[in-house]
Amino acid sequence: MIFALYELYNSRVYGINSSLNKAVSVSELVKNGLTTHMINGNTHQRDVFLNSISSVQNIKEIWVVRGDNVTNQYGEPFKNEYPRDDIDLKVLKNGKMEFIVSGYFDPEPLIRVTIPYKAINNGNTDCLKCHNVQFGDTLGVISLVLDISDLKDLGLKTIYMLSILTLLLLIVIYPILNKILHKYFDVIEKLDENIQHAVNGKFIQLKTSPSDEKEIKDLVDVYNNLINKLDNTFAGIDNKLKGLIGHINKRGQLNPIEDANMIVENLSNIFQFKKAIELDETKNDIYIRLSQVLRNKFDLKHFTIIEVNHTLETMEIVYKHGELYFCSKELEDNPELCRASRTKSDVTSLEYHNSCPYFLSQSKYHYCIETKLSKDVSLVINFVLDSKEELDKIHQNISFIKSYITESAPNIEVKLLLQALQESAFKDSLTGLYNRKFLDEHLKKLLPQIDREDKKMAILMLDMDHFKAVNDEYGHDIGDFALKELARVLTENIRESDVVIRFGGEEFIVILVGITSDEEALKVAEKLRLKVGENEIKVYENTTIKKTISIGMAIYPDNSNSIDSIFKYADIALYEAKRKGRNRVIQFSQEQLTGVDLF
Ligand code: GH3
Ligand code: MG
Ligand code: MG
Repeated sequence: MIFALYELYNSRVYGINSSLNKAVSVSELVKNGLTTHMINGNTHQRDVFLNSISSVQNIKEIWVVRGDNVTNQYGEPFKNEYPRDDIDLKVLKNGKMEFIVSGYFDPEPLIRVTIPYKAINNGNTDCLKCHNVQFGDTLGVISLVLDISDLKDLGLKTIYMLSILTLLLLIVIYPILNKILHKYFDVIEKLDENIQHAVNGKFIQLKTSPSDEKEIKDLVDVYNNLINKLDNTFAGIDNKLKGLIGHINKRGQLNPIEDANMIVENLSNIFQFKKAIELDETKNDIYIRLSQVLRNKFDLKHFTIIEVNHTLETMEIVYKHGELYFCSKELEDNPELCRASRTKSDVTSLEYHNSCPYFLSQSKYHYCIETKLSKDVSLVINFVLDSKEELDKIHQNISFIKSYITESAPNIEVKLLLQALQESAFKDSLTGLYNRKFLDEHLKKLLPQIDREDKKMAILMLDMDHFKAVNDEYGHDIGDFALKELARVLTENIRESDVVIRFGGEEFIVILVGITSDEEALKVAEKLRLKVGENEIKVYENTTIKKTISIGMAIYPDNSNSIDSIFKYADIALYEAKRKGRNRVIQFSQEQLTGVDLF
């Protein structure tokens, strides 16, 4: 269509130009005719001449206008020789041709042309012979009105022809193009759709039909290969990650790309965590680090970490974060009541609120998990959640949370073993009391503290009287039992800050920390002596015996500021007690040193 309009424009310009040429030719003809009339002296017949010209086809009107210089020389013009409009006046003044074209789509399109007559001398005609003018002056103008209907008809015909041609072209070419391009568009649309699916982790293959072009088949093949590879890779990653981290509670739609991304990020965090806890010194350090992860990574506000010892039937809260803890006190006496500990599975209020009868809150939710630390000990973590949303969130993250705990478990177990080992190294297996090794370690911390605070302490050295006789009479086991009983009575009758130690055999040491006077220490020693002496030791069914003890006492730093000397002095005092008849308390005094071989 644009092509047609362009053509129309061209033809119009061409038509106007040819009309102007025609007007110029007619004006030349008229000029020559008029000049001939003038030369022949029959100017009066020029109207006839002009009329004859105006009858020529397409010339609608023709008139001549006399210029001022001719009027000045030859007098006023004939009545039809005056300028008829502004165009005549303009051309008279400028001496340049002017024309206007009426509307192209008018019923009768016209071109109106005004051409100047200039004073010339070309050999045949010398205007300057008769006219009193300069060469090139405008003598007058000739105006013509030409009918250009022919031109319009030609233009319109051109438009019609071109339009029809264009239309024909479109009718023939469009279906062919459409048929070819449609297949490509179809494939591009499907590719676009499936790539969107792939971004969301859904890998869908495309199909081709045998009639499809080779290019389409090749493109679809490349796409299918890519999708196949992605599908296999992500399925492989998913399976491997599941092996590493366990089942993951998916959120909403399945998207292996996002899942893999999230899992890899979490695995990397867990790896960093594992490296960090390997360097932790104490069990408590590990619990602190684990709690940081639970708080910061999983946004958990209330949780309690509990160690449950299945052999000793004890439970100990080893770490607590937040205020909320609703587990019944009954569990402390009987940890096997804890559902998570007993069933070794997650106990949550996800399905129904009262899934654990020992969780004593109606408004809050709980999520309890259990992890085995060693043969005897397992870890129970009780999470308390404020809302159902928080409960759902912990459920979604539980695999990751458990991964952190699973990673911590071997390290906690090592610390537990170390702790047990240390305890066994420092404790006497028969009586459960601290041993001599512990005494050495304990004194390292205790003595500076006593010195700093300017306190005193009494060292009581105890020995059962005639203990050998128990062994001899009732056997070694009863002897052992008598020692256990002695340990129990001593422990039950001292303050918590005081320490009882099995020093060796049937000798014990009691350290009374922070006594203010000798009397106070003697009072405690006396009380211990009496309590031991009163205690009935069952040796057979219906047979009990009573055993007494002798006690030697020295005071630090009153008797010496060397702790080794203090022990020696207490021993000397004990010896003195034995010597004086047993079952008594003797305080050390310098006189006892006489005659004693100290070293
Ligand atoms: P004394 O009044 O002079 O202290 O008389 P004793 O019989 O207590 O004398 P002694 O201190 O010499 O004897 C200690 C005995 O304690 C010797 C040893 O066989 C016994 N004994 C030491 N350790 C144990 C133990 O662990 N279990 C038992 N059953 N006996 C022990
Ligand atoms: Mg002894
Ligand atoms: Mg003894």
